[in-house]
Amino acid sequence: MIPVVALVGRPNVGKSTLFNRLTGTRDALVADFPGLTRDRKYGQANLAGHDFIVVDTGGIDGTEEGIETKMAEQSLRAIEEADVVLFLVDARAGLTAADEAISKHLRSREKRTLLVANKTDGIDADAAVGEFYALGYGEIHQIAAAQNRGVSSLIHYALAPMAETLKEEAGELDEEIDEDAWDVEEPEQLTEEDAESEAERLRALPIKLAIIGKPNVGKSTLTNRILGEERVVVYDMPGTTRDSIYIPMERDGREYVLIDTAGVRRRKSVYEAVEKFSVIKTLQAIEDANVVLLVVDAREGLSDQDLSLLGFTLNAGRALVVAVNKWDGLDMTVKEDIKRELDRRLGFIDFAKLHFISALHGTGVGHLFESVQEAYDSATRRCSTSLLTKIMHMAQDDHQPPMVRGRRVKLKYAHAGGYNPPIIVVHGNQVRDLPDAYKRYLMNYYRRSLNIVGTPIKVLFQEGA
Ligand code: GDP
Ligand code: GDP
Repeated sequence: MIPVVALVGRPNVGKSTLFNRLTGTRDALVADFPGLTRDRKYGQANLAGHDFIVVDTGGIDGTEEGIETKMAEQSLRAIEEADVVLFLVDARAGLTAADEAISKHLRSREKRTLLVANKTDGIDADAAVGEFYALGYGEIHQIAAAQNRGVSSLIHYALAPMAETLKEEAGELDEEIDEDAWDVEEPEQLTEEDAESEAERLRALPIKLAIIGKPNVGKSTLTNRILGEERVVVYDMPGTTRDSIYIPMERDGREYVLIDTAGVRRRKSVYEAVEKFSVIKTLQAIEDANVVLLVVDAREGLSDQDLSLLGFTLNAGRALVVAVNKWDGLDMTVKEDIKRELDRRLGFIDFAKLHFISALHGTGVGHLFESVQEAYDSATRRCSTSLLTKIMHMAQDDHQPPMVRGRRVKLKYAHAGGYNPPIIVVHGNQVRDLPDAYKRYLMNYYRRSLNIVGTPIKVLFQEGA
């Protein structure tokens, strides 16, 4: 399960700056769920070899009366649901009463917490952070978020214990980390044999299908509807409220694992009376799924939250099917209006299938699985080097790449770089300098030629052979 890092601290210590640092390398999206989150921001991040979700809990200044009650319930849950808390203080401002209040609060939660002194640039940092030892965290991690200093090592330190394979190397790596080098995200390189076995491995596994959507769109109703029609083996899993329930099921001879973010099958004793919707739970489900089924409410139209969830799904490279729910009892003209509006606003995911369903009555639910299967098959379809290279040449013959600095860009060959999402790596001279329009042209050419439906594709460009 992808780890969650929460940023906590009084206002102005640099949480937003650090948040942007952590997510900036990857067009991070911010999900703002009014009424649920109170100024909280969520982002996907990849740094120092770790994928993680970062949550900015918003400023707590500690002067509120009774911090326990005043901190929004959702902010408390961000801390509860996090794997590690980064408690930020301002090295320039020194220790404040607000820091002490927050510290006291954090300690009572028994969550792994690292004390992080920010803004250590241009000052005698060792001297400046001295007074923070009084908070009793032991080691103080010095960073300058604005300068991107110390950030990679901090993240590595925070997350290495969770990445089993990195555990032993953590100590050595800490010293070796070259800040800039870690920030470059290199495409995953698979050899042709690796690519083949990766595609095969994926196709042999059950399809992990996450049913996501904002509160009240009908996720529980849909999940029950799907499960009601199936012979389902349900197993209760112990866990915290943040965990989704994984439900194995079979449909049309294919095996699935339904990732139930709505908590339908959670035991009463485990499912406490908390708000059942959790942004973190949803983001983790997206990351862990092969295919995401996004449920939206036909009667409410697309909201910013729907678009945020779509953005997270695309960022994660997941295959996608959209269910427009509550399609019952609407008259013809309203339906036409809704369809037009969706067409207009969902142009950026024109590869995904839209289904108009009624979870309540069961209408259209069966057909969802045809699209889920199609999307998964597309996402894991094996593509040989010779096929990808041939398509590349066809695209090039139809439409020559433009000149860059007086020389024509030359495409040489292409191979698969991964699946779910399909990654195609194109090699050639000056390919990285290709204009975006040509890169898009190539991607669309591949999509059409390979008939890839329901999943984003990534085309990466690599200099030389
Ligand atoms: P937040 O309220 O905790 O989210 O804090 P912000 O990220 O908005 O930062 C507050 C102020 O501190 C801004 O003016 C930032 O530019 C500044 N700041 C953040 N990080 C650093 C840093 O590493 N060094 C210095 N000198 N200033 C910083
Ligand atoms: P969740 O929070 O996303 O799990 O949403 P629920 O499944 O709890 O549904 C929220 C409300 O919408 C409930 O009152 C459902 O009965 C209602 N609902 C769900 N699906 C449909 C549908 O297809 N049509 C109509 N008319 N109402 C629905």
